[in-house]
Order: sequence, then C-alpha cells, then structure tokens
Amino acid sequence: MTKNRHHFIVIGAGHNGLVAAAYLAKKGRKVLVLERRGLLGGQAATESFGENFTADSIHPGGTLRPDILKDLKLASFGLRAAPAKKPLISLLPDSSHLILDPDPVKAAESIKRFSTKDAARWGEFVRFMDKSARLLDFAYATLMPRLPRNANLMEGYGLLELGLELRLAGRKDMLDFIRALPMTAQELVEEYFESEFLKAAVASLGIHGITQGPMSAGTGYTLIHNWMNRGGMAHLPVEGGVGRISEALANAVQSFGGEIRTEAEVEQILVDAYACKGVRLKSGEEIHAENVLSALDPKRTFLNLVGAPNLPPEFVWRVQSIKMRGSVAKLHLLTNGVHGIPEGTCVVAPSVKYLERACDAAKYRQISEKPYLEVTTSGNVVSIHFQFAPYALQSGGWEVEGERIESLAMDTLAEYFPNLRSSIVNRKVITPLDLERTYGLTEGDLNHGQLMLDQFLFMRPLPGWSNHKTPIDNLYLCGSGVHGGGGISGAAGRNAAMAVS
Ligand SMILES: Cc1cc2nc3c(=O)[nH]c(=O)nc-3n(C[C@H](O)[C@H](O)[C@H](O)COP(=O)(O)OP(=O)(O)OC[C@H]3O[C@@H](n4cnc5c(N)ncnc54)[C@H](O)[C@@H]3O)c2cc1C
Repeated sequence: MTKNRHHFIVIGAGHNGLVAAAYLAKKGRKVLVLERRGLLGGQAATESFGENFTADSIHPGGTLRPDILKDLKLASFGLRAAPAKKPLISLLPDSSHLILDPDPVKAAESIKRFSTKDAARWGEFVRFMDKSARLLDFAYATLMPRLPRNANLMEGYGLLELGLELRLAGRKDMLDFIRALPMTAQELVEEYFESEFLKAAVASLGIHGITQGPMSAGTGYTLIHNWMNRGGMAHLPVEGGVGRISEALANAVQSFGGEIRTEAEVEQILVDAYACKGVRLKSGEEIHAENVLSALDPKRTFLNLVGAPNLPPEFVWRVQSIKMRGSVAKLHLLTNGVHGIPEGTCVVAPSVKYLERACDAAKYRQISEKPYLEVTTSGNVVSIHFQFAPYALQSGGWEVEGERIESLAMDTLAEYFPNLRSSIVNRKVITPLDLERTYGLTEGDLNHGQLMLDQFLFMRPLPGWSNHKTPIDNLYLCGSGVHGGGGISGAAGRNAAMAVS
C-alpha cells in the first residue's frame, strides 16, 4: 500500500475533473488526478489520428463558464479569450442554404429568402433563447438540495436563490422559460416560425447529443441547453483545438500544486464499511486518500468501480435505471483541402419530420439511413457528427457496422459537397462502442446520462443524490452525469469542488 496520502483523488481528467481538481488545489488541498488515457481532456481533447491528421476528437469546440475562466486565471495558463462565433448553415435541397449568422440582423437577411414573417421574428426568438439560456446557466451553477430527502435550510438555500432569480427575470420571461422546458422542440419553434427550413434548423439543437426526436416532450429543454453551451446556434471552435481548454486547466492544476498522472486507470474504488479509502489502479497500485471525486459517469463509477456488493441494493437498482442511450458516431476525414465545405457548423436538417425519422431508426436499434449530420472543418480536416447511430444495434455489431457511418454520411453529403468524397486522404470513425471503450462513456452516452427532464436539476444523477454526495462516505461525483453537466462548461466540476471543500 502506497503511504502517499492525498486530500483528494480525482478520477478522470475530462474537463470537469480538471476543473474540480484546479479549484481544490487552488484552495491548498493536496490533489491527485488519475487519467486512464495517455491524453488529457476526455471529450475535450485534440488528438492525432495519423500523419498531419489532428482533430478535436469528440467535441468541436466550447468555452468554460466565465466565472471558471476568471477564478482559475485560465488566460494566464494559455487559454485565449472566448472564440469568435460562427454561423450555423443549414444545407437545403437544390444546393441552397439558410445561414444563421451570430449577428441576428445578418441571420434575418438569410431567413427573409424563406419567410419575411420569420425574419421579423428572429431577433425576438434570439432574445428569448438568450434569456432562457441565462436562467438555465444560473440553475446549473446552483447547488441542488437532496430532494426528496428532508433538505435542511442551508441545502435548500440554492433553490431559494434560483426561485428569486427566476422571479427577477420578470413574470413573462420566467413563465416563458418554465413553459418551454417540457415542450417539444417542434412546438417551441412552431410558436415562432412558419418556414419549415428554419424550424428544422433550430429544432436540430433540441436533439443534439440525445436519443430523442424533435417531437418528444422535453426537447425544448435540450434546445435551450445546447444554445446555452454554444452561446447560440453554432459550435464555438477553439483556436488551436478544444484540447487547449484541457491544457490550460492541467497547467492550472499543476501550478496550484496538484499532480496529474496519465495512463493510470482506476480499476477499483476502495470501500470499507460504506467509507471510501482510496483507489486501486489497473497496475495493482493502491493509493489512499481522504476523499475521492469521480468524474466518470455514475454507472461506471458505481457499478464498475465501487461494485454492487459495496452499495445499498436499492441504490444499485436505481443506478442501473439511469438512462444512458448513446446514439452518436463521429467521423473525421483528412482531405486534400478541396472539400468545399464553408466555415461554421453545417447541418443536414431539412425538415422537422426528417429529424424525427432519423430518430425513429434509433427506436428500432437501427442506424439512420438518412441521418441528422453536423459538419465542421478545421483546415483540411472535416469532422462529422452522425445521429442516430444507437449503441445497441438490433443486428450486427459496431465491430462490423462502423464502415456504414462513412458511406451513409458520404451519400448524404454528396448532394451538397460533390468534391468531398474524392478529397479524402484518410479517415477515422468513432462508433458508440469506441466512445465506450476508448473514451470511457457507458453505452456511448456523451452526457454521462441522457439530458432529459427526469434526469435534470435535483434528479441528476438520481433523486436524493443531487449534491455530489453518494451512499459511500468521502466519495463524490463531479462529471457531466451530475447536475450542471453535460457540455463543456465546467459547471459540474466547479459545483462539486464547492460542495466538498
Ligand atoms: C460527438 C459529441 C458531441 C457533443 N456535443 C455537445 C454539444 O453540442 N453540447 C453539449 O452540451 N454537449 C455536447 N457533448 C457532450 C460533452 O462533450 C460532454 O458532456 C463533456 O465533454 C463531458 O465532460 P466530462 O469532463 O464530464 O467527462 P469526460 O470528458 O467524459 O471525461 C471523463 C474522463 O474520465 C476518464 N476515465 C474513464 N474511466 C476511467 C478510469 N477507470 N480511470 C481513470 N480515468 C478514467 C476518461 O478517459 C475521460 O478522460 C458532445 C459529446 C460528443 C461525444
């Protein structure tokens, strides 16, 4: 047994684990971060897939909450100011485009070609979404009480603050926000627009990263969540790659005195009589600590690393019931540069029905023949987010089905970018199974648990366990599967550090 004792071990160096570690180290705690891969950042990593073939492996950009950037002085650790916003470009039949520029006036110019009425309402919609995103962001930064337990007054204080913030937003904005959350994305966009192209482009944000179609209740919430994470419609690319965020966080952890070890996979969380003692690595090394924070998803943390025999049976059953339903695949293409794709986030989302049908395939555990695609570029590299590609397939398996992702994506994009296929020099497909095996995401679920209203606020990851605590003393959760996650905002890691220090 290693004698080396730490105040905190953080398992997993995704951005949330690094944010939590940096806050704790800054407070003078002795922190050790253990990462399974040789690379930091988890889903926020920039990775090499071959010669001259570097891409943001999973997430095509992002920005941390402004308070985290400030608290951790990340500019001084190499993180540049917020990246410039880009347009979302909806690829439409007959090679036409709808360009939703971050400047609402320019976006309205493009919308006008399809509907003058919609163009006139775009500014109002943007204001509604920005206000709603601000309220959701406030909710994510609020520590949740352990409802339905008898939360004491101090635990409930956050909810009181949240209620006040909602009320201060004004009666109309408060009600509009609360009403939008359980709506379908389709209903929400239909309240504003008549153009099918515009409705679908906006509704696509409501299904990004989840296994729901735009006609499912609660996709109003996911629409606001993704708007909040992106600061609008399109992804925010980071200069030099999204891995810069993780590099800056790692620099902060180390400069505050924390330690980071890569290729240090935790195989077991050591528990004795419902108290956490430390961890055992795959190598067999045991490391003791006063507290352990897991930035892994709740299923992986409890079912794989703690183990059912160390947990109350009812809790095990409830963890098993957390909905993890990954259905995203990623395709990176190294091209000779003549791919013909413009800068920004290009989407294949021509109608709300198209998106719903793409999701229908996932209901039957099939890959969408006509997928919802999101295409981003970085120089010669083209990255494609492919939905829906369900983790659990009805027949075949991801070992053999991976190639279909490329052929279906190419067939879909050929109409819009005729030179793309012939420009390909190298490729990398990341299937939902790869997301699980390489990136450590149970069932390939990017958000460590579906972003649904029954897994939201004090119900994330589970009702009664929403304040980062677990049934094991001194074991806490700090990844995207807890309140504040997913997305690249760092809220879950920051909240956890506040709750435990
Ligand atoms: C294709 C794609 C697109 C996305 N787009 C969006 C979007 O538009 N909007 C949005 O809100 N969110 C999006 N997300 C989700 C978002 O990226 C995640 O919610 C977020 O990055 C998760 O960060 P994290 O730090 O909580 O966890 P992760 O980044 O998953 O980090 C967990 C870390 O733990 C490590 N680990 C796992 N097991 C072990 C172990 N046993 N021992 C040690 N280390 C271990 C992993 O290697 C990893 O580094 C997207 C995700 C994907 C895959």
